[in-house]
Amino acid sequence: MHHFHYSNGQLYCEGVAVAAIAAKVGTPFYLYSHATLQHHFQVFDRAFGETPHLVCFAVKSNSNLAILRIFINQGGGVDIVSGGELFRALRAGVAPGKVVYSGVGKRPDEIRYALEQGILMFNIESPQELQVLNQAAGQMGRRARIALRVNPDVDPQTHPYISTGLKQNKFGIDIDRSVAEYLIAKQLPHLEIVGVACHIGSQLTQLSPFIETLGRLKELIARLRREDIQIRYLDIGGGLGIQYNEETPPHPVEYGRSIIQELQGLDCTLILEPGRVLVGNAGILVTKVLFTKQTEAKYFIIADAAMNDLARPSLYGSYHGIQPVVEKDRREVTASLVGPICESGDFLAKDRLMPAFDPGELVAVMSAGAYGFTMSSNYNSRPRVPEILVHKNEFYVIRQRETYEDLIRGEEIPICLTGG
Ligand SMILES: *Cc1c(COP(=O)(O)O)cnc(C)c1O
Repeated sequence: MHHFHYSNGQLYCEGVAVAAIAAKVGTPFYLYSHATLQHHFQVFDRAFGETPHLVCFAVKSNSNLAILRIFINQGGGVDIVSGGELFRALRAGVAPGKVVYSGVGKRPDEIRYALEQGILMFNIESPQELQVLNQAAGQMGRRARIALRVNPDVDPQTHPYISTGLKQNKFGIDIDRSVAEYLIAKQLPHLEIVGVACHIGSQLTQLSPFIETLGRLKELIARLRREDIQIRYLDIGGGLGIQYNEETPPHPVEYGRSIIQELQGLDCTLILEPGRVLVGNAGILVTKVLFTKQTEAKYFIIADAAMNDLARPSLYGSYHGIQPVVEKDRREVTASLVGPICESGDFLAKDRLMPAFDPGELVAVMSAGAYGFTMSSNYNSRPRVPEILVHKNEFYVIRQRETYEDLIRGEEIPICLTGG
């Protein structure tokens, strides 16, 4: 469900014509619908009903302050993977007691920052991290709340780059070895064990890997309780997929129902870390066609957005719907929608049937709200594009387009090069 729709041949985001926004802010830009974001959060949150739970939005999927604030206003917490994300989330107004910190490579300064703020818990991913955190907490006179992120060795049946719960992945602590690590953690004076955490991957389109994982987590919690280790929080990560093309992922209500059923009688507060499912279909990337080009082999539509703005097609070969911003009668062509970047891997859509866009036309790249802007870069010295939020009949610039000056901020030509 989303609030991008056509009216009189014009693509609208809620009550605002996308073309009108383009005329004001230029192209390319990311565009998000407030109503969609709010609705997605509510549906997801309500899917867990009366079960004690906390929805911790995965900041890495979309870290704009305004987007974070929408979820925080709804009572959400955050899942962070860096000090920078903690900084953003705090700026957006999150309560430190609703922050969980995941990631295999937390730096000492990041650990101290999170300890200072008193976050809800650290999801520990290695035996060494356990020791480092214990030491840092001791030095600061604090006690760190922890969960071990376990690796259940379950195949999420998704793209290999976003699979995280298999034995060969770098994430988590092998579930069979985790009891021994919990026993070590129990002896460390500056740690307080509060949870078990897990995240098996992203863009899952089936429930079975989640259910299989829950089964293993339940067994683990039972074993821990026999060792007199009490588990208050069960963090089952994120990963629920969305429809980009032909996928038919489970609805959040179905997801919630099967999880609640699986965990009956467990007596834990559930923590969920959804990212993509909340923001993915709530955002689009709007770009303008610069040229079309028929080569001997192929037809290219060259737009002003590129792989630096939206990396997913190049990185994962992923599919995004391509739609006109203004509908008109036209033929369809098999074409590749490409950007100006000097790489042949630079495409937004490859060898697909799409409207035969003409130069000057606006194109909407759909389902770009998750891992879109956050994965963008300045490659080819392209200023990062603005982010726009529509709320009913108004739109707001929630991140300005970068300028050329922004591109060189912090750079310096040292004196040895200036003849000084
Ligand atoms: C990326 C990530 C998420 C969010 O994944 P989605 O597929 O966007 O829901 C949640 N938890 C952790 C630990 C992650 O790394």
